[in-house]
Amino acid sequence: MFHTLGELNRCVVECAKCPRLVAFRESVPKRKAFEEEEYWRRPVPGFGDEKAWLLIVGLAPSAQGGNRTGRIFTGDGSARFLFKMLHRAGFANQATSERVGDELRLTGCYITAVVKCVPPDNRPTSQEEDNCSVYLWNEIHLLKNIKCVLVLGKIAWKGYEHYVKRHGGSVQATFKHGGHCKVEGFPDVYMSYHPSPQNTHTGVLTETMFSHLLDKIVSKCHSCYEASIHK
Ligand code: SF4
Repeated sequence: MFHTLGELNRCVVECAKCPRLVAFRESVPKRKAFEEEEYWRRPVPGFGDEKAWLLIVGLAPSAQGGNRTGRIFTGDGSARFLFKMLHRAGFANQATSERVGDELRLTGCYITAVVKCVPPDNRPTSQEEDNCSVYLWNEIHLLKNIKCVLVLGKIAWKGYEHYVKRHGGSVQATFKHGGHCKVEGFPDVYMSYHPSPQNTHTGVLTETMFSHLLDKIVSKCHSCYEASIHK
């Protein structure tokens, strides 16, 4: 059990519980455009507003995004889509998330992933998801003001569903973009396709679809939104 997010995140970045992922994160080939950069190559913790009312849960850091920069949803195509949307909706102070130290700030929102290390082909094993679940569960416990959870993709949904079930909740929903479910005793859950380039470049997930979903979340939780932007 951790007492603060800082304590949790310090532990996350030292984690080596999954040998396959440790080997992969350390051996991801550098892309030519980033060959002068020192890659992070460690687990990537969540970040954002510690008083957040909205928790966004993704799958895992990407090879050339979080695994390179050390911040989740940073420096890749998913980040470009997500932060444009979060900025438009008032959760982020800027529309880009390119590198640590870029002055990006989130208000009312915290972002994390179910698996903190980059998995080959973006596919963690069930054992790796289980190994990492303790970190997400602790994040949820430490983020005391969370009212809504937005899961990005099926694996994120499965990770959150597992959390709810293991904590005594009953959940019947299946994953679909735009899905919403209320779970007695837990934050409301909203579902989106993952904003990866495979989805956003093919029209599976469009800006309009994602914006509508954020609007729906904000309007359902209007008082939380107002309180966060005026604090
Ligand atoms: S995926 Fe999670 S549990 Fe596995 S090594 Fe990375 S941080 Fe540790």
